[in-house]
Order: sequence, then structure tokens, then C-alpha cells
Amino acid sequence: MQRKILIAIDGPSGAGKSTLAKAIAEKLDIMHLDTGALFRALGYAALKKGFDTRNSEQATKLVKEIELDVKFEGKSQKVLIDGRDVTPYIRTEDVSIAASNISVHSIVRDYVLLQERQLAEKESFVLDGRDIGTVVLPNADLKVFLTATPQVRAERRLLDLINAGDQNAEYEQVLRDIKKRDDQDSNRQTAPTRMADDAFLIDSSNLTIEETIAQMLALVEQICRE
Ligand code: C5P
Repeated sequence: MQRKILIAIDGPSGAGKSTLAKAIAEKLDIMHLDTGALFRALGYAALKKGFDTRNSEQATKLVKEIELDVKFEGKSQKVLIDGRDVTPYIRTEDVSIAASNISVHSIVRDYVLLQERQLAEKESFVLDGRDIGTVVLPNADLKVFLTATPQVRAERRLLDLINAGDQNAEYEQVLRDIKKRDDQDSNRQTAPTRMADDAFLIDSSNLTIEETIAQMLALVEQICRE
């Protein structure tokens, strides 16, 4: 990939954004930024400190007290809180909910936005999140909104949890959590999950990951030709 390119993949949780973003970044030999990991790291830090993630004053205190960093080892992304790598601890359901709660506050969104833009300024990236095409990079070269039914997303999430060693994970609970997060992420006042007007929609409910990647690559080729 010669020229600098920024690709935004937004959508609800469990739609497969990270897997797709990683595959596209690999194909194009550019970096992938999983922006959810930044909110997850903040949610994790709040839980560790015993802060109420719904309380905006405590969220403000958190972002003033701690330092969040994103580092890349080769292409592998790490999130650090006060210099400590917390990446291995941010994929639990508790942290998912804490991330969704804390991401509602404008101060948290501004804090993360700054880091996302600073990274994207330097080189080509595929970024996945909720508000990349609408707020973070409104001028991205390609925007995709990736979705799937809540049931399909819950099945995928359940498989991930079981593969990660959570043998107690239950489908009904995972589905409830997904719907709760969807509701909170799409109805918050600041930067809700929304498809940008100029984004392409991919519904992966009935697609394999290979088919989803193929659809996305066709879009990439199209914009590279322009
Ligand atoms: O994508 P992931 O599920 O890891 O994101 C965790 C949470 O972080 C989401 O539920 C959402 O509330 C928040 N988030 C966000 N904006 C982004 C990425 C994630 O608000 N760009």
C-alpha cells in the first residue's frame, strides 16, 4: 500500500469488526487499531479502583488520575494503564459492561478521541469501533458498518468466551448482555453507534468470515482504483 489510507469499521458488539479489521490490515500490510480496547482498558482501571463507571465525576477523576497508552509490538496492539500492560484482562463480560458504561461520558470519549486521532495521523490504519466513521475520522477513505442479528452475535461471543476458558458462559446471559450494550451504545448522547451516511453496510449474519473479508476487499479495491 503506497498512499496513506484510513479505513473505518463500525458496528455493534460481536459483529466481527475486530476479526475483519485484522484480516484487512494484514492483507494491506497496514496497522489495525481496536478502539474498543481503549475503552475496555479504562473500564478495567475503573473496576480495579472501585470506581462507579456510571458516575461522571468518578469517570472524570479516573481519566485525570491514570495514563492510558497504546503500544504496538510489531502489529500486535497492547493497552497500558500507568505503564502496565492490561491487555490480557480486558475481555471479560464485567469489563465489557464497564467499558460500555464508562464510554458514555464525554470526558472519556474526548480522552480516547485524542489518542485515536494522534495514531491515525501518523500512518495507514484500519480502525474498528462505534464512532470512527461518524466522529473520529469523518474523512476516512473507506467506511464500513458491519452488523449481524443479536442472536448470531451472541452465538459468536459465546464461542469466544468458551474458547478463552470461560466454561460457565451461557447463551441467554450473553444475549442479554449484548442487547443491553447495543441499547446503551446506540442511545447514548455522545457519539452513539451509528452508520455514517457515506458508509457501506455489510450484514454478516449469513456470511462466513471469509465471505465478509471478500466483500470488504472488493470495497477496498474500488476505493484504491479511484
Ligand atoms: O468493541 P468492543 O466491544 O471491544 O468495545 C467495548 C465498548 O467500548 C463498547 O461496548 C462501547 O461502549 C465502547 N466503544 C465505544 N466507541 C468505540 C469503541 C468502543 O464507545 N469506538
